[in-house]
Amino acid sequence: MDDHTLFSNAPIPILLLDPSGIIQGANPAAQTFYGYAAEALIGQPIAALADSDSRLQQEYALQRALQTERDWNGLINHVSQQGDLRTVRLYLTPVRNERAEICQVLCHVFDVSEMIAAQRILQRESDRLEAILESVNDAIFMIDADGAVVAANLQFERLFGLPRYEVLDRSLVDLVARLRAQPNLPPDFVNILLNFNRDHTQSASYDFEISGVPRRVIRWYSEPVHTYDGALLGRLFVFRDATHELTLDRTKTEFVSLVTHELGTPLTAIKNAVEMLQDDPESNLSEEGRQYVQIIEQRIELLETLVKDIIALTRIEAGRIELRCAYYPLKAALDEALNSVRSIIQSRKQTLYIEVPDDLPLLWIDRNRIAQVFTNLLTNASKYTPEKGVLSVRAARVDQRAELPENSPADLRLPAVLVMVQDTGIGIPPEEQARIFERFYRAEEARQRRIQGSGLGLTIVQSFVALHGGKVWLRSAPRQGSSFFFTLPIIEGQ
Ligand code: ADP
Repeated sequence: MDDHTLFSNAPIPILLLDPSGIIQGANPAAQTFYGYAAEALIGQPIAALADSDSRLQQEYALQRALQTERDWNGLINHVSQQGDLRTVRLYLTPVRNERAEICQVLCHVFDVSEMIAAQRILQRESDRLEAILESVNDAIFMIDADGAVVAANLQFERLFGLPRYEVLDRSLVDLVARLRAQPNLPPDFVNILLNFNRDHTQSASYDFEISGVPRRVIRWYSEPVHTYDGALLGRLFVFRDATHELTLDRTKTEFVSLVTHELGTPLTAIKNAVEMLQDDPESNLSEEGRQYVQIIEQRIELLETLVKDIIALTRIEAGRIELRCAYYPLKAALDEALNSVRSIIQSRKQTLYIEVPDDLPLLWIDRNRIAQVFTNLLTNASKYTPEKGVLSVRAARVDQRAELPENSPADLRLPAVLVMVQDTGIGIPPEEQARIFERFYRAEEARQRRIQGSGLGLTIVQSFVALHGGKVWLRSAPRQGSSFFFTLPIIEGQ
């Protein structure tokens, strides 16, 4: 193929210029690109194709190529016959004749308009992200997959007293060395950073203290970051000053324990007085009086449960619940619960079926807490079921997912013992089912029917079951009863 064929078949626009910039030739791709026939282009100065603001630049580019006698390339705005403005990258190449004089300039035209537009969008996005990163109250930094610090915001500088330019693009190991030199940071904190350097899967969170006056508590978490198609970008570390939050938490816990303690003492006294009134043959209570005393007794029981629930919850929230586990048969916990709920079930003339096989494995449980789980679920089953209704407790060993009921959660630990507490009561509409485990949440119907309760029972059930490594869920429909399920993992090696 000769030069001319190359010129005319080239898929990219090519112009041939004389040294003064007059167009002497234009290949078909150039004619299409600019929208002019060859005759209309030939004889025009190339500057005529540049938009008015870029003409000087176009002339300067040609001069540079001729003076330096070398290739020149750069971005210039050109306009087509239809008036479309395009950013093009021009490659100007001086061409010599046999006497080695520059006789022509070859001009390759690459349309980069779309790329430039995309770059502008990307730049805007990246500016926006940077602005967000700068304006959050948390200190943030990110390392890439090779462990180099690739981002750090203003709060990071403030929290650690390290200028960003000293850590950016350096390795995490360098950063750790700088942090280690700071006497107010705990040494284990930097170790943790190092441990996560090469870990591309785990999330983590932790608190640490910065000594000084006032002492500050920093809560941090770390997550691996992936692109949407799964490629690893690196790891993000976020640090938040949680001093105020934790002080508030502590004050709340202390306040709640004070109130519940202060409530407990008079409650016990009232309870004793009521019992004396009921038992004393000489109290001479009228029938009406007896009924009032009975109401007082019921309300006190309710108050006592409420106080107990609040104490349990504050302990759970403060992370102060310690399980006292041992190997027990499930029945041991169930029997303990039945001692307290049997009278409620009988008073409501309900029938209770129990199907717990004798050959279930022993479970590594805190018997009192699991008894509490049964008590709460059975009390609910009885309360939310009309008189003469039917309640049941069933349990079975489950080794494989296939043996589980249909709507079981995906991430259950197996093997486990699956327990079901079922009733034929008022049921719970689907839209309220997710919320009933929230603190103080009570379904619409429970409130309307004025069935007594605090909305804490299921929150406690969920926490206790979770502490044992299990899960709670339910299946229910209005007027068709409810089934509450929970699992207790079987700890291997018995
Ligand atoms: P409460 O003290 O109100 O019973 P829970 O936390 O034990 O608090 O339950 C939260 C809410 O869930 C209840 O108020 C009730 O609306 C609903 N609920 C719980 N168990 C049942 C059940 N077996 N049948 C119908 N509704 C129930």
